[in-house]
Amino acid sequence: MSKSPNPMIRLIMFTSEDCIYCPPVESIVKEVVGGAIGELIYVNTVDVDENPDVAERYNIHHLPTLMINEKVVLEGGMDDDSVREILWNTLLSLAVANKERMEKSKQSLLHLAVNSWESLTGERMLRKTVGDFIHLGPYQLTLLSLYSLDPLVPGILYQAGYQMGLYGLMHHILSILEPRLGMTTKRMKRLRFITEALALYFSDKEFLPTYIAESARIIYLSDEKFTIEISGLASGSMGINVGEPMCDFTAGTIAGVTEALMGTATVGVEIACAANGNNTCIFEIHIDPPSPQNIRRSPEVEDKLAIRERRLNFYESIHSLTFKLENSYFMRKRLRPSVGDMVHISALQPIVLSIKMMDDYLASILFSAGRELGIFGSGKALLYDIVERNYPEASLPVDFNIGVEVFLKYMTHPTTYLANEWGIVELSEFDPQRPNERILSIGDYGAIAGVPNLGMPFCDYLVGFITGRLAVIIGEEPQVREIACQGTGSAVCKFEIKKAEGSD
Ligand SMILES: [Zn+2]
Ligand SMILES: [Zn+2]
Repeated sequence: MSKSPNPMIRLIMFTSEDCIYCPPVESIVKEVVGGAIGELIYVNTVDVDENPDVAERYNIHHLPTLMINEKVVLEGGMDDDSVREILWNTLLSLAVANKERMEKSKQSLLHLAVNSWESLTGERMLRKTVGDFIHLGPYQLTLLSLYSLDPLVPGILYQAGYQMGLYGLMHHILSILEPRLGMTTKRMKRLRFITEALALYFSDKEFLPTYIAESARIIYLSDEKFTIEISGLASGSMGINVGEPMCDFTAGTIAGVTEALMGTATVGVEIACAANGNNTCIFEIHIDPPSPQNIRRSPEVEDKLAIRERRLNFYESIHSLTFKLENSYFMRKRLRPSVGDMVHISALQPIVLSIKMMDDYLASILFSAGRELGIFGSGKALLYDIVERNYPEASLPVDFNIGVEVFLKYMTHPTTYLANEWGIVELSEFDPQRPNERILSIGDYGAIAGVPNLGMPFCDYLVGFITGRLAVIIGEEPQVREIACQGTGSAVCKFEIKKAEGSD
């Protein structure tokens, strides 16, 4: 078994050049992180003078400040032993909790794999109202907004893909696509059959087509490495250059399934991506590499200024992608000419699920990503159009109760349905007893349909989207809460929408 490909505990140390208490604390951090627990921890040092906006966002008033997973654990100078004790206690308990959560996440991902198998073989439809394919628009916009919010997201998606590859059903599918795979144990022969099966898998239009890609071919193969080129991969085919590779999930999946079939540690990295100026996506897969840590793509957050630029760049990308997607929705120009722009929901679900399951902080970025898309994403022209047609007296922003009706018309508009993102959407009647409160029900939401009962509401991203979009419509953010979810056994997801308190 390979080492964990990415650290899941985030330690941020705030320092400055003049801080005299900082160097001793920093050296203890280095000592702890240099030990066995180090591979679980991602350390980021922030100089508050160089990054006043970051310091302000985290509300930093003392130096040094140590935050672990967004919680302050140490402020100001302290003796060495106390620093050591605080660090060890916090980190060890987190490492244990992470392990439990990862286990549950692994089980859920396997459940998703079984679901997608049943859906693709026609045994069971996960979404009876709208079918099991969504437009790749919502899929790509979800990815873009997540990548923009946290530089750790690429590593998390790699990890999720890796688990899917390792424990899911893909190795089974590969063995069906290339039956000779089961007949040899010779390393080189086996590897050749795996690569041939992978090329078939990503080109599949007949056996169990998810339309995750258009086609694939192997461009290099040796006994320690192979290179696979994939055209029209759903996560990369945006028709724009977003400035970094976007297919970490697939890199992880290929590495995981190769590891499952070869029985040796495998690491994958995307060396060129269609979302980053290349025509296709190219993955290099290393089998049993001597130093896996040097190969994996680590989040590039060392350079703090880059975080801000990266985010601005992503906003621009979301904007440009919107135009490309409109052309695709209305069939003017497809992003993927040969297979079209619909993709099976099994491409989207593991991404949302793995982020939701990772930890509470990351679950909260699903909300933020949805909210940003609600505020900045496409479809505003449609909102104006809906208001103009239905409420000729009014103009945006409108009052709360007209606003939620406008939102309902937006969610159920034929052009919105071109993305096939959800099934039936309904709004509770106006209740004079509760004039500032409505319930919105959404059935067969693509990210959740068929997902096992996780014991928690799942649709943080949708809660964020409803919040952001309604903020545009009524001019202020309402309070939105998911009160029933398909992810906890409810037939549909229900969202309570309340007018912000203290406003009228
Ligand atoms: Zn790519
Ligand atoms: Zn839900």
